[in-house]
Amino acid sequence: MRKQSVLFAASEVYPFAKTGGLADVGYSLPKALSDAFDVTVVMPLYHTVDRQRFGIEGPTDFFDVMLGIERRTVSVYESRFEGRAYLFVYEPQLCDRDYLYGPPGEGYDDNAQRFGLFSYAVSELARRLQSDIVHLNDWQTALTALIIAEDDTLKASTVYTIHNLAYQGEFPKSALSALGVDKRHFTLEGIEFYDRINLMKAGIGYADAVTTVSPTYAEEILTHRFGCGLEGYLQHHRAKVTGIANGIDTEHFAPQSDSSLFRLYKTPRGKHANKKHYLAEAGLCDAELPLFIFIGRFTWQKGIDLLLEALPQMAALPCNIAVLGEGEPQYAPRFEKAAEAHPNIHLFFGYDEALAHRMYAAADFLLMPSLFEPCGLNQLIAAHYGAVPVVHRVGGLADTVAPVAYAPEAQSPCGIAFDAATPEALLGAFEAALGLFNDAKAWSRVATHNMKADVSWGQSASAYAALYRKISGSALK
Ligand code: ADP
Repeated sequence: MRKQSVLFAASEVYPFAKTGGLADVGYSLPKALSDAFDVTVVMPLYHTVDRQRFGIEGPTDFFDVMLGIERRTVSVYESRFEGRAYLFVYEPQLCDRDYLYGPPGEGYDDNAQRFGLFSYAVSELARRLQSDIVHLNDWQTALTALIIAEDDTLKASTVYTIHNLAYQGEFPKSALSALGVDKRHFTLEGIEFYDRINLMKAGIGYADAVTTVSPTYAEEILTHRFGCGLEGYLQHHRAKVTGIANGIDTEHFAPQSDSSLFRLYKTPRGKHANKKHYLAEAGLCDAELPLFIFIGRFTWQKGIDLLLEALPQMAALPCNIAVLGEGEPQYAPRFEKAAEAHPNIHLFFGYDEALAHRMYAAADFLLMPSLFEPCGLNQLIAAHYGAVPVVHRVGGLADTVAPVAYAPEAQSPCGIAFDAATPEALLGAFEAALGLFNDAKAWSRVATHNMKADVSWGQSASAYAALYRKISGSALK
C-alpha cells in the first residue's frame, strides 16, 4: 500500500537552524513518523545553514509566488540528510538575515512578508509533491492553512500545531495586501485581531486539525490566564483542538552514545565523572554538592524573574548553580550581579548545544520555573540524562513530571513541582530538592527511574499518525 505523503513545514529544524524546541520537534517528529508515512520536511534556507555539511544541493526547482501584486521567485534546494527528505526554500528577503526572526526580543518589520512568502512556497510544494497531509507549525507557516483551504486545486488536509501561543505573528493590517489575502478574511472569524492581522488565527481557523504540544496546555489555552487573547477563538474551534505531548529523539539525546560528553554512561552513577569534569570547566568546586542547572531562553515565559529573585537565597545554601542562556538584554546584568556575590553561580551567556549536553550530563537537578510551558523539552532531556527536574506545575511540565514519591512506578519522569508562581514557592521546591539529594538512596532511585522513563516519541508519534489518518480520511475535499 502506498504510504500517505506528509509535508512537514517549520521555520526552524535541527540541525540546520535552531533557536528553541520547535527545531528539535522539526527534526525528531518527522523522524519518528518516517516508517509509517512518506515525510518531507521543508524550511527556509537561511544563509547561516551550512549547505556543505548537510549535503544540501540545488537549486533543483524554481517557481514564482505572488505576494499581493509582487511576483517573487523562489528556489528550492534538497538534501537527504540521514536518509530522510528535506527541502529548503531560498529567497533573499526570507533568508539573508543575521537572525531567523530578528534580534532577541524583537522581530524584523517585514516578517509578515518573509514568512508569508514561505507559506505560499509551502503550499506550492504541497501541490508539486501531491501531499496528502501538510503539517504546519506556529505562526510562521500558519497562513498556508488559509491558502490551502481557499484553493480548490489543493487537496491536502492540514494539521496546525501551536508550539507557543505567546508568539502569534501579529502585523499591521496594511500587510494584508502584501500577503495577498482577500479582505473578506479580515474579520473576527478570520485573521483580524484588534484591527491587526494575526497569522496564528489563520492556522487555528483554517486547518483541518489543530494540536498543541501537551494535553494540559491544550486545556490551559482555552482560559483567560493562558489564552493570550485567543481563548475565545480557541473555544470556538475547540472541537478540532487536541494536545499531544512532545517527545525527544532518544538517539540524539543519549548519555550512552553522546559524543559531546566527557564520559558515556548508562546509570546515574556514571554522571559523577561528567560532573567533576564540568565543574572544573566552569570553575566551580566540590562535586559532593548538588549541581542545579538552568538552560533556556532569557525571557519572562521561562520564569527568569522568579529565578533571579530566588537566586541569592538558593546560592546561600550548599549547592552549585550553572546557567546557560541568552535572550532579552535586561537579564544578563541581573544574573551577573548575583554571580558576583556568590562564587558558586556559574554563568555562560550564549547558545552552545554541546555545552548544554555536558550540563545535562553533569546536573543533579534542572531548574525550570516557567510561568507557562506549552510542553518543554529541557525537563525530558534532563531526566533522560539522570537529573531530577524542579518545575512550576504548568502546561507540559504538569504532564511530564510526576512527584518523586511515584518513582519507580510512574510512566513519566519524576521531579519536584511547585504551584504558586512566586520566588518563595520556587525556593520551597529548591529546599525539597536539597532534602532529596541528602538522601543519596532516594535521589538515586529517582534519577535511575528518570533515565529509564519513556520520553521518546513512541506514543505521541502514534497519536499524530492516528490524527493524520483521521483528517485525510474525513476531510471534505
Ligand atoms: P523553547 O520554549 O525555547 O522552545 P524548549 O524547552 O521546548 O524551550 O526547548 C529548548 C531547547 O533548546 C532544548 O533542546 C534546550 O536544550 C535548547 N536550548 C535552549 N537554550 C539553549 C542554549 N542557550 N544553549 C544550548 N541549547 C539551548
